[in-house]
Amino acid sequence: MPSKVFYGSPRQSRLEAKETLPAKLDLILEQLHLRDRVKDERVIIKMHTSNNIGYATIHPIFVRKVVQAIKDGGGKPFVADVSWDTAGAEQRGYSTEVLGCPIYPVAGPDEKYYYEHERPYKSIQSWKVAGFVQDASFMVNFAHVKGHPSCGFGGALKNLALGCMAGETRGQMHDAMHYDPYWFPEKCPDAETRRKIAESCPAEAIVEDKKNPGQMHLHMEQCNQCGRCLQAAPPGSLKIDPVNFHTFMEACAISVSEVMSTFEAGKAIHLNLATLMTPVCDCFGFTTMPILPDSGIFGSDDIVALEQATLDIIGKTKLIEENLPLVWDIHFREGHPFCQLHGPYKDPYKMTEYAEQCGLGSREYELVDVYPLEKVERAALPYTPA
Ligand code: SF4
Repeated sequence: MPSKVFYGSPRQSRLEAKETLPAKLDLILEQLHLRDRVKDERVIIKMHTSNNIGYATIHPIFVRKVVQAIKDGGGKPFVADVSWDTAGAEQRGYSTEVLGCPIYPVAGPDEKYYYEHERPYKSIQSWKVAGFVQDASFMVNFAHVKGHPSCGFGGALKNLALGCMAGETRGQMHDAMHYDPYWFPEKCPDAETRRKIAESCPAEAIVEDKKNPGQMHLHMEQCNQCGRCLQAAPPGSLKIDPVNFHTFMEACAISVSEVMSTFEAGKAIHLNLATLMTPVCDCFGFTTMPILPDSGIFGSDDIVALEQATLDIIGKTKLIEENLPLVWDIHFREGHPFCQLHGPYKDPYKMTEYAEQCGLGSREYELVDVYPLEKVERAALPYTPA
């Protein structure tokens, strides 16, 4: 049976507060029966508190509504994010006074408070689930949707995958993209050719490893798979291979399954706010012009269905290319807008596929609009200049 995804459109029929997204969040929380589910629960609200001068993350007005609903239901809420984002969060409007609950670094101020979960995957042997996640009894996963340089798209899955792990595991998840070999030095012994390969990349994504001459290192985050470097590389020396990119997405799905294993069934809800979407993650510490029209707010018990629905709605919109930073290089104009933004191997749907394979939910969903647009009848007479 398809999972229900409750949806609030960013569009309004009329200029009325009840038709705007914070009001639609209230309706979604009612549909998810949040108040009835949190009595005496210690509730973590996992969100991204951004960094430095970023301002596109979830506005406190939304977070405060979630906090209040949890308090109304007799739960004990707290907000959590990784330590380098919670440090200074008050400068971006996230404080105890504003949100109405404490804000904690999810794995402690030094990233040393975690529970280790054994689960070998490529170069990762165990997953350090953040202490404040595992100690909580109920999860509200509240994600700001945006592009992401490693996986094309950051939403509810990515919010947990990276944001609920201690720093060491976050680093290992990124490093796992280098597990499958892509550089074969015996096919390119010539230093001059290696220099030309590096120079061929407009994104400076492929560089010679300074500590290990003869080895080329691919910064996957910067690579949009344009293929220019392949023209400079001798045959067989370099692969730009989907497996390296997909490794990060699969690692994210495994990470989320370890996170969710610490909650009993039915003790989590997931929310996506798809507004002010930027090309890269909120942890970059700044906000660009929005690169997509707002797509609205989504809520579900099923994290996979939520992501699928969010991607499908965003997929009906078009990239606002004129809002991209001037250095951005779009060379691929097929498929999902996030794919066009970050390249074909960073297909945003891939993570939902891995998450479904991990048993985290279903990609089949029923979209329930919590406040459908009302048809507005215009006056029958034509416009006449006054
Ligand atoms: S595929 Fe394009 S972006 Fe990626 S490393 Fe090669 S030249 Fe750079």
